[in-house]
Amino acid sequence: MLGAGIGGLVAARVLADTFDEVTIVERDVMPGGGHGRRGVPQGRHVHGMQAGGLPLLEELFPGLRAELAGDGAHEIADLSRVSLRFAGRLLNQAELPVAPVLSVSRPHLEWRIRERVRRLSGVRVAEGLEAVGVTSTVDGDRARVTGVRVAPAATRDAKERTIDADLVVDATGRGSRMPVWLEQLGCARPDEERVVVHIGYASQTFRLPRDSYPQDLIIEGRAPGRRHGFGAFACEQDRWTFSIMSYGAGERPPTEPEERMRLMHQMAPPWLAEALSAAEPLDDVARHAHPTSHWRHYERLGRLPVGLLAFGDAIAAFNPIYGTGMTVALKQGVALRTALETTTDTELPRRFYRAAARPLSAAWALSTGADLAYPETLGKRTRRGALMGRYVARFLAAAEHDPVLARRFLAVAGLVEAPSALLAPAAVAKVVRSPAPTALSLPERARSDVAHAPRETAAS
Ligand SMILES: Cc1cc2nc3c(=O)[nH]c(=O)nc-3n(C[C@H](O)[C@H](O)[C@H](O)COP(=O)(O)OP(=O)(O)OC[C@H]3O[C@@H](n4cnc5c(N)ncnc54)[C@H](O)[C@@H]3O)c2cc1C
Repeated sequence: MLGAGIGGLVAARVLADTFDEVTIVERDVMPGGGHGRRGVPQGRHVHGMQAGGLPLLEELFPGLRAELAGDGAHEIADLSRVSLRFAGRLLNQAELPVAPVLSVSRPHLEWRIRERVRRLSGVRVAEGLEAVGVTSTVDGDRARVTGVRVAPAATRDAKERTIDADLVVDATGRGSRMPVWLEQLGCARPDEERVVVHIGYASQTFRLPRDSYPQDLIIEGRAPGRRHGFGAFACEQDRWTFSIMSYGAGERPPTEPEERMRLMHQMAPPWLAEALSAAEPLDDVARHAHPTSHWRHYERLGRLPVGLLAFGDAIAAFNPIYGTGMTVALKQGVALRTALETTTDTELPRRFYRAAARPLSAAWALSTGADLAYPETLGKRTRRGALMGRYVARFLAAAEHDPVLARRFLAVAGLVEAPSALLAPAAVAKVVRSPAPTALSLPERARSDVAHAPRETAAS
């Protein structure tokens, strides 16, 4: 296993059922406890586990949900406990049960999973080692990967050594060098789809007094003509991660406390703005930029080497504002388990990539469909996508008033149901019968946060 992020840990958990020994090669030296680390800079920003991922997390790590609840993480299972505005539409907040989502800081979640994986028989984590390439031999007309070349991450020009392996799984994230390795092994690079979104994050952690808040997860998502949004997630030990997002090239989320609070008072529910103004920050503001979403289509390659797979963000990384990456990694874990149980090593890459493409395709459609509704997003537009964008805009407008539609939208966004569930006959009938959408329900106070005069977009 290359990489000990959520993707690498999930894959290692699955591999441990089949292989006697699993070595996780990780560039970072792991911090103790739930602390952040350099190799996962996204850990400082809002992270939630979608409803479609939570049951899989429990299936792979039985008892983990209870353990996290004991740590003070939040499982949110009612519409009234969230405040979610997407494309300028505030989802209905009636008291209605929904499939639970998990709110916990990313470093804490990763630490708890890592401790579980470390305890698995045959698994070891080789920390402070960088994977620099793979070794291979020829097997008929295909290359067979036989191991990975590693070097100490801390020392430049350090001596490399090889770790032999029957299977190498690359979960080194979006910077994965797999396309280069494939070329070196005589295979083609995968086609890569890219959507240029230019999302910026600037985040900070606060502690709020326990039970002082009526909701646990607040998202002011992207809306036509707006430069900023935010996410505020209740995490373990009464910590709250609070991220301001910026949308579009040239935009930067503010890091100065006064400007951040000014935006909060414009955009957030008053109780949250007041609570954050009074709270002590627990750390400095951290920034992160996500310029581009990508999907490397390994499932389309005709010739693949035996003994080598990509996994997690190394295959596809989505716009993080939709919060689907960890859930997709868990779904890939299930695809890997099925492929390992049902096929030979020579067929494994093709089987795995094809099975993994199904959840990837749902998450990709959701994230790029929403992004391409904004004219400033660069990517391939289709007529079908534009029509779906208009329908989703109507759906969201109807979901402001209809809690059942709001729940359906969350089930799709949370990868519990396929995007086609938005087109179920009962849902379509409600959307069509709903009153014509009124003006966007943006907070009145946010009128000054305008990038340009709102243009007519598919989302409006
Ligand atoms: C700002 C932001 C917010 C996000 N919010 C959410 C959210 O709310 N919900 C959600 O589900 N997902 C979210 N995601 C996505 C999520 O973080 C990832 O999809 C998920 O963690 C899976 O990533 P991964 O393990 O494949 O890669 P990564 O998390 O990038 O991990 C890669 C690992 O590989 C190691 N590594 C890299 N190169 C090497 C090498 N050469 N040798 C050895 N080790 C190496 C790194 O140190 C790291 O540990 C967010 C992402 C971002 C950027």
